[in-house]
Amino acid sequence: ISGQMMSQPLLISTIIRHADRHFANKEIVSRRVEGDIHRYTYAECHARARKMANALRALGVQMGDRIGTLAWNGYRHLELYYAISGIGAVMNTINPRLHQNQIAYIANHAQDQYLFFDLSFLELVERIAPHCPSIKGYVLMSDAARMPAETTIPNLLCYEELVSQSECLAEWPQFDEHAASTLCYTSGTTGNPKGALYSHRSTILHAYASSLPDGLNISSREVVMPVVPMFHVNAWGLPYSAALNGAKLVLPGPSLDGESLHALCEQEGVTFSAGVPTVWLGLLNHMESRKLSLSALRRVVIGGSACAPALMDTYRLQHGVELLHSWGMTEMSPLGTVCTLQNQHLSLPEAEQQAIKQKQGHVLFGVDMKIVDDLGKDLPWDGKTPGHLHVKGQWVIDSYFGQEDASALQDGWLPTGDVATIDGDGYMQITDRSKDVIKSGGEWIGSIDIENIALDHPAVQQAACVGIPHPKWAERPLLVVVRKPGMHTTREDLIHHYEGKVAKWWTPDDVAFVDSLPTGATGKVLKNLIRDQFKNHPLP
Ligand code: ADP
Repeated sequence: ISGQMMSQPLLISTIIRHADRHFANKEIVSRRVEGDIHRYTYAECHARARKMANALRALGVQMGDRIGTLAWNGYRHLELYYAISGIGAVMNTINPRLHQNQIAYIANHAQDQYLFFDLSFLELVERIAPHCPSIKGYVLMSDAARMPAETTIPNLLCYEELVSQSECLAEWPQFDEHAASTLCYTSGTTGNPKGALYSHRSTILHAYASSLPDGLNISSREVVMPVVPMFHVNAWGLPYSAALNGAKLVLPGPSLDGESLHALCEQEGVTFSAGVPTVWLGLLNHMESRKLSLSALRRVVIGGSACAPALMDTYRLQHGVELLHSWGMTEMSPLGTVCTLQNQHLSLPEAEQQAIKQKQGHVLFGVDMKIVDDLGKDLPWDGKTPGHLHVKGQWVIDSYFGQEDASALQDGWLPTGDVATIDGDGYMQITDRSKDVIKSGGEWIGSIDIENIALDHPAVQQAACVGIPHPKWAERPLLVVVRKPGMHTTREDLIHHYEGKVAKWWTPDDVAFVDSLPTGATGKVLKNLIRDQFKNHPLP
């Protein structure tokens, strides 16, 4: 016997239609690539998205066609989120910080039909266009006045002209909620990027779940500023969850430096934001140097890499801003866990609460997780035993795009490539990525712990701990450190800093000082390059 409820497919177009009907005048504010501030409403966003939808159809775009974007966080990119997926085509956001060969690789692998791009990527697109045979036309996301007089880009169209020449689509088409909506590629630090192909259904369920109070807690009262780029796993779903809840949306464009972010936060009353740790370090440095504070910002979700405890403490104690850990990956749309506290934690001393907040957190309904040993056997949730982290869920991939025949799963679970512990309350803590784990005498040393302790030292700006080949122990930890400007510390001082904080054999054997650490396209430290650089480093 079936339920007797209306059958309505979970489609992305329903989110923007809802925002238009019920939050018509809520604002969307963007800092444009052109430099100025643009503001309009959800109603206007929906109207322009429907015009762009018609323009795409007029260009011959069909259900399932992939459309690429190279763009920052801004209102035109947001319109494309809804226009492309809304007509059943597939939005392929490409990270412009990748090497141009990788950008061309992604556009080719996805077989993108059109590529939309911001003005700032004109030269980049000129360089890649000859290598992207599937792309039939390019759309510059700007107005007629800014179209280049001369360019080598074939079939270059103007975004604003496409919008102004089109009628509003009367009704969004209805189709199966399992249809593909969005294609995001992993950043491919080793090997070529791999595509995660989301569906309308998975995107809507992710938007619902991520809005929950123990998730990102997005309500109509929040002013949401995604600093995480819209080309990095859909800005962690915020362009959908903000619209679903009718929250004011602030899109910071290309300027992610401390000064620009601080100005936007203050001018627009941003209450909630999200991004990788380096961005928040930049904002903090700016505020410290100018003696500034934040009047409305209360919560920031941090993910992508582990956040240093010292950064969390400074924001909380000096600025009244709660930094919340969250963990996920491209293959998971991306949210898996968020670290909010539960009742049993609230009576604990402050230091113990903060220790819990160092963990990556608790799963959201819709995702499940487990830790296993090398043979795939379940490991205990004791908060101590590290294992390979496996996940499953409604918004987790089961295969990569273009590799439909090869399941990405093991026994129905997706191996994440992360190593983690899970405690008795179900709080997961990443101790390492599998490929970064340091294997010393058959035991694992978690490099994130070692780095966090280094970052507690007043003279340390950045730290990376990597395994160096060792004749007796297989590998031993080397700590690579960037000192804060004008600060001094020595190898002995740093090694002494570990006393009493970790088991003796976890203490790094040596410390190397460098001017900077190599980072990839999503701001993560590239440990494979560091390992390469130091592979012959003589350990004492
Ligand atoms: P990439 O393409 O580099 O894998 P993702 O954004 O998909 O980019 O990165 C996912 C990985 O980032 C996770 O598997 C994990 O290793 C790391 N990560 C994400 N969030 C956190 C976090 N809060 N703490 C530690 N590591 C994290």
